[in-house]
Amino acid sequence: TLSDRLTATFKTLRGKGRLSEADIDATAREIRIALLEADVALPVVKEFIAAVKERARGAEVSQALNPAQQVIKIVNEELVQILGGETRRIRFAKQPPSVIMLAGLQGAGKTTLAGKLALWLREQGKQPLLVAADLQRPNAVNQLQVVGERAGVAVFAPEPGNGVGDPIAVARDSIDHARSKLYDVVVVDTAGRLGVDAEMMQQAADIRDAVKPDETLFVVDAMIGQDAVTTANAFLEGVGFDGVVLTKLDGDARGGAALSVASVTGRPVMFASAGEKLTDFDVFHPERMASRILDLGDMLTLIEQAEKAFDADEAEKIARKLSDKGGKGFTFDDFLDQMQAVKKMGSLKSLIGMLPGAGQMREALDSFDDKELDRVQAIIYSMTPVERENPKIINGSRRARIAKGSGTQVSEVSQLVERFFMARDMMSQAAQGKMGGLPGMGGM
Ligand code: GDP
Ligand code: MG
Repeated sequence: TLSDRLTATFKTLRGKGRLSEADIDATAREIRIALLEADVALPVVKEFIAAVKERARGAEVSQALNPAQQVIKIVNEELVQILGGETRRIRFAKQPPSVIMLAGLQGAGKTTLAGKLALWLREQGKQPLLVAADLQRPNAVNQLQVVGERAGVAVFAPEPGNGVGDPIAVARDSIDHARSKLYDVVVVDTAGRLGVDAEMMQQAADIRDAVKPDETLFVVDAMIGQDAVTTANAFLEGVGFDGVVLTKLDGDARGGAALSVASVTGRPVMFASAGEKLTDFDVFHPERMASRILDLGDMLTLIEQAEKAFDADEAEKIARKLSDKGGKGFTFDDFLDQMQAVKKMGSLKSLIGMLPGAGQMREALDSFDDKELDRVQAIIYSMTPVERENPKIINGSRRARIAKGSGTQVSEVSQLVERFFMARDMMSQAAQGKMGGLPGMGGM
């Protein structure tokens, strides 16, 4: 998975503090593959990667994240943005009835969606009316009636037995009917074809003109993959739409169609359907879809936690302490703080590359397991403030006292003190190397 591949990339990028062109390229390559695997259309992938690279180049170097993570964060933000930013809500008309028209290919899930929307609207205290403006297939009206019954809402349909009705007239009449019977939302189901064709598009446009929808929703099957762009463009040109509904997300499609359609049309995805039941329906959550497309759920959580746990000012302070006077200003209290920051983020072993400014610190910490860390903490707590400030004074009798106070062995205390000095030397050398080039800093 992308997650595995990126973890491998993170290992090589670990400890670096700057976004180089090579870092950006390496990460962008992985993202590109992931998007293609998620069935995002190629032109959309290309444009997207270019935009991400552009932003990554201009980005300020993050203190909290390593370069790969920083690129991922940008990728995720861009994805969410394209998918519609915040969840976009239905705009209801000031004067009821509000009209919602559904358009899309046959089999996209329009009729099913009509029922889902109706139930959802009813739960919000609305009085919806479903309109059967698909008179193309013999069974279409009946299918909507079944769905309406299940949702507990009324269905407006042509009188049976009158031959092939006129869907545009039915649609137009339904609005008068809704007005006189005080329905406040009208959901117009329309016909689709298996492929885009001019006649179907004209009919949909005529229905649109007859009902003047407040929202036209383009319904698209998430499994359609690469074809999504062509279909969406045809509907945008032929009928126009305000929002997108993605259906069949219960399948194994990663949802690249969402990105393709939203990116090419500039229209937000508003609802998501994930099953045949009327309740398998929700407003669309751009962040959830972004992490589904990238298949990076855990990684994104990790990035979020790292940013929370990592305090840039604190890091700056530590770096200064380490680069001055051979790192003598770095105390057991600082050590404890760092350790707790890392612990806060969860298991150490899974946190590769989390605190780029303190790579050596992490290496030192990596040599402890989580249970040991609790003991380390206990030992440090048993030191006096003076001992923590100036660990050099921790002699044999002090070690014995600390061991007793923390319920550990003297040898463990000794080991910790020695490891502390080793880690401090290592970190101090690294910090001087890093900061030595800056004018006015200790390393000069
Ligand atoms: P329409 O031609 O656009 O009206 O599409 P339909 O509403 O008739 O749906 C076509 C088929 O897809 C039907 O068998 C539906 O049960 C099924 N369907 C619709 N939405 C979903 C969904 O979200 N998940 C799954 N698994 N099936 C769906
Ligand atoms: Mg239908």
